[in-house]
Amino acid sequence: MSRLRARVEPQRLAAGMETATVVVDGAEARRLRRVMRARPGQAIELFDGQGHSVEGCIHAVEPGRVVVRLEGRSPDRAASPEAGLRLVLLQAVAKSGRMELALEKATELGVHEIWPVVTHRCVARPDAGGQRVMRWRRVVETAARQAGRSVVPVVRPPVPWREALDRAGLLEGGWLRLLAGEKARLPLTRWLRERSPQGVSGAVVAIGPEGGWSEEETDAAIGCGFEVVSLGPRILRTETAGWLALALLQAWWGDLDRPPGPLDVGDPG
Ligand code: SAH
Repeated sequence: MSRLRARVEPQRLAAGMETATVVVDGAEARRLRRVMRARPGQAIELFDGQGHSVEGCIHAVEPGRVVVRLEGRSPDRAASPEAGLRLVLLQAVAKSGRMELALEKATELGVHEIWPVVTHRCVARPDAGGQRVMRWRRVVETAARQAGRSVVPVVRPPVPWREALDRAGLLEGGWLRLLAGEKARLPLTRWLRERSPQGVSGAVVAIGPEGGWSEEETDAAIGCGFEVVSLGPRILRTETAGWLALALLQAWWGDLDRPPGPLDVGDPG
């Protein structure tokens, strides 16, 4: 049976730690009641999307609200599904299905932040009203839940390439900056083996759009300290490239060697 989990606002979780009771309401309460068929007495994990989670037990299920009694503290980090390496994906905005796939897979692989970027050859453009960002955030939230993560990756509003580079330049303390270039000669795998970077706290990985990077964009990235790397001899779709780059980094830093976390979460659908 899939384990129950629900997301609550950070303030609510923190306040609940004091009183040992948290009321889940809104869409999460409806999902627990209607989709997950939650019942009093069942174990549940509450998480705030910022890395905090706590175990509890369902006390009451009422229309519009589920009352949870808290029982414990969050599981320790060793068993946590959160990776030690901070991962930021700079994903060029792609057509909707591909973009959503890219975000979903990146979330499954443990990405922490997604910075959608608008580049010269982007076919798809984000809408002015921000509807697409809202949709991306929902995709990422569902994927994080399904993956048993207690952190929901941050999806930033799309920015032009130059702005994303400036922002990446502000990251301090042991950040790798990598750009996956479809024409690059240096494979990421070889770069990792030969360079064997030490003291790394995070990695920014930039993936181009369906149309690829322009030369100016690649040059600008190099100027901002990005290493241009290849992901092998074949041309990958934009949604495959990010997935592969993140998987290689997670494998290199040992994240995939860790045993499964304490959660066994089913997708509520
Ligand atoms: N239309 C381009 C391909 C773009 S693929 C062409 O035909 O050349 C979309 C993005 O995925 C690229 O910008 C790059 O970031 C990444 N990518 C795809 N294949 C790659 C590879 N073999 N190595 C590195 N990056 C790759």
